[in-house]
Amino acid sequence: MSLDNLITFRKELHAHPELSGQERATSQRIIRELKKCKPSQIIENLGGHGVAAIYDTGNPGKTILFRADTDALPIQETNTFAHKSIYDGVSHKCGHDGHTAMLVGLAQKLHRQPFNKGKIILLFQPAEEIGIGARAVLEDPKFEALQPDYVFALHNVPGYPKGQIVCRTGTFNPAAISLVIKLQGKKAHAAQQENGRNPDQAIAVIITKVHELQNYDLASEDFLKFTTIFTRIGSPDYGISPGDGELHYTFRSWTKAKLEAAKSKIVQIIETITTQHQLSYTIDWIYYFAASHNDAFAAQCVEQSALKNNFSYHNKPYPFQWGEDFGLFTEKYPGAMFGLGAGEDTPALHHVDYDFPDDIILYGIKTFYGIAEKVYNSGEMHNR
Ligand SMILES: [Zn+2]
Ligand SMILES: [Zn+2]
Repeated sequence: MSLDNLITFRKELHAHPELSGQERATSQRIIRELKKCKPSQIIENLGGHGVAAIYDTGNPGKTILFRADTDALPIQETNTFAHKSIYDGVSHKCGHDGHTAMLVGLAQKLHRQPFNKGKIILLFQPAEEIGIGARAVLEDPKFEALQPDYVFALHNVPGYPKGQIVCRTGTFNPAAISLVIKLQGKKAHAAQQENGRNPDQAIAVIITKVHELQNYDLASEDFLKFTTIFTRIGSPDYGISPGDGELHYTFRSWTKAKLEAAKSKIVQIIETITTQHQLSYTIDWIYYFAASHNDAFAAQCVEQSALKNNFSYHNKPYPFQWGEDFGLFTEKYPGAMFGLGAGEDTPALHHVDYDFPDDIILYGIKTFYGIAEKVYNSGEMHNR
């Protein structure tokens, strides 16, 4: 299959986006293309609608896993091109259609130019956007037999030159988590709010105190960023002094340990302030994304592959700030995530007019293939 066919496939995915956890037709399209590339094995329904293609040479050697994500977003597309989403309110605004097409392209390359040792796993992972797909795949009993030695993934990054490879050793993107704080006081007549317990002041103080925890210094190990997502007190019923309220946050830090420390601090703040204001509370922690940690050897393979392919390489001084559930893989296996420049003028990820730039497809395929070459050529030196 030529690049033209890969682009056609990418546009077919773009026109038929499916939300996280619902990637049924997408997985069928992936399997249809994979069958043409004759892998040793195809595993279906992996952690939901996940698919894995395995290229096993039958010879000893490392097992290398490459991951693409496959889900789309609940965003109404504003683009009007021929391959625009046929579904209202759902579209590929993170380029997962492109990531999927690149991994299918890698399957084609492995079919044409197989390695002579080891095993390569191409994982098409569902439900990345809601942070549950990686866990579901890792916990699927069908994944147990796979056990990779190294794991790799890429994400396209608008704002960087097309085809530039962006990587670093250490944290690649942060640990992130969201939380819902619910406060319960006591309703009263609006004229007699002193007879109730209105959570308004507690919420005002919590917002201020949480802001004081922020550390925007990207170079600092203690980087910590809170984003207030939503807040509410009572309801627009003007005769009532409200007795309940809520606050929703997302926050991120470079490591799991720092994230845990921040969680304790916020619990302490809530505890203190709700006690002072005689309120009860609940906290729900949701949407946890593990930090992606890049192993030094794996990151070196990414860099060497980029250089061997004559691609521009950028060693990123600080991690990216977005969450990515590939972190769960690097918690378990050595590996690396890297960025693939999507063009300085390409709209940002998750924006209504974003579209994956097809001219970076070959960069992704060649970088992945080159990484496998590097791992196999230096395998003896890096026995784990
Ligand atoms: Zn996304
Ligand atoms: Zn994404």
